[in-house]
Formats: sequence, structure tokens, C-alpha cells
Amino acid sequence: MAIKVKKNDRVRLTAGKDRGKEGKVLFVDIKKSRLIVEGLNLVRKTKRPDQQSQKGGIIDIEAPVHISNAMIVCPKCSSAVRVKRKELENGKKVRVCAKCGEVLDKV
Ligand SMILES: [Zn+2]
Repeated sequence: MAIKVKKNDRVRLTAGKDRGKEGKVLFVDIKKSRLIVEGLNLVRKTKRPDQQSQKGGIIDIEAPVHISNAMIVCPKCSSAVRVKRKELENGKKVRVCAKCGEVLDKV
């Protein structure tokens, strides 16, 4: 499956404890087909004191989610949609919303 999600896309999770929630993609790991989504799929980690912050403690960090568990949210439909690829007249390939045809990439 081709990876259609890019950094800064808005996605909705379709599985896991944060199913139905939306967030911005911070990182895409193409090799592992995983995404980091801002504020979602948080896991609690114990942090050891280090040189930057003297205090240790418990922090929440985003755990990767599998790409098949995230759908792109179309800004126009404001719902999770399938994405199609389309070639523009100038030959540039963009991603479009399969529902309304909105171009999801900056052209
Ligand atoms: Zn749309």
C-alpha cells in the first residue's frame, strides 16, 4: 500500500484507544508504515533526570500508530476520507479527496 499521509496532514484514528480523535501528523516513518500524531496515542514514560532538565518524572509521549489506522481528514468535508491521486495539467501529482475532489496538497 502506498503511503498517502504526509507530515502536517490532519488525520483521524480509526483504531486504538484514541479512535475517532484527530490530530496533526508530526512524523511519518515510511519504512515501518507508522505515524506520530500530535497529542494522540500517548504513552506514559518515566523520564530520568538529564542535563537539560534536572528533574525526572513521568511524561506523556506520542507512540507511533500504524498507517492503516489513520485516515486523512479533508479540510472541506471535515471528515475522514479516502484519498485519490490526480495529475494536474502541469504534470504535478497531487492528492485529492475522493469525496469532494478537494486538492489536499499545496500546489
Ligand atoms: Zn473532501
